[in-house]
Amino acid sequence: MEDCLFCKIVSGDVESDILYEDEQVIAFQDIKPQAPVHLLIVPKKHISTLLDLKEEDNNLVGHIYQVANKLAQQMEIAKDGFRVVSNCKEAGGQTVFHIHYHLLGGRNLQWPPG
Ligand code: 5GP
Repeated sequence: MEDCLFCKIVSGDVESDILYEDEQVIAFQDIKPQAPVHLLIVPKKHISTLLDLKEEDNNLVGHIYQVANKLAQQMEIAKDGFRVVSNCKEAGGQTVFHIHYHLLGGRNLQWPPG
């Protein structure tokens, strides 16, 4: 997608601090971290919101959770615990319309979120 920030990060047109990459996803540091560890796990395929996920994306979503599992261990937040969250549309807090999963940890996270 031409005008999508995360497509530009995937293509390398916009710089980011990438911690993980494979054929399906990339994971990079959030530019405005909300916790000591705050990564974004992003599919390379452009999908605007959770509502646009199709059956054919089921393996991709499962893969994203496996990547979250690996990264949580790599970032040493697995032992204490962490959060994986995906915001959907404006009222859900989504600001970038290319689906992504926040991986947050390194402090005691509050619930419910604001
Ligand atoms: P959302 O609000 O859509 O759930 O999450 C979007 C996230 O992308 C936010 O946490 C925001 O800080 C992050 N973000 C926005 N622009 C950039 C950018 O240019 N680079 C990186 N690395 N993160 C960004």
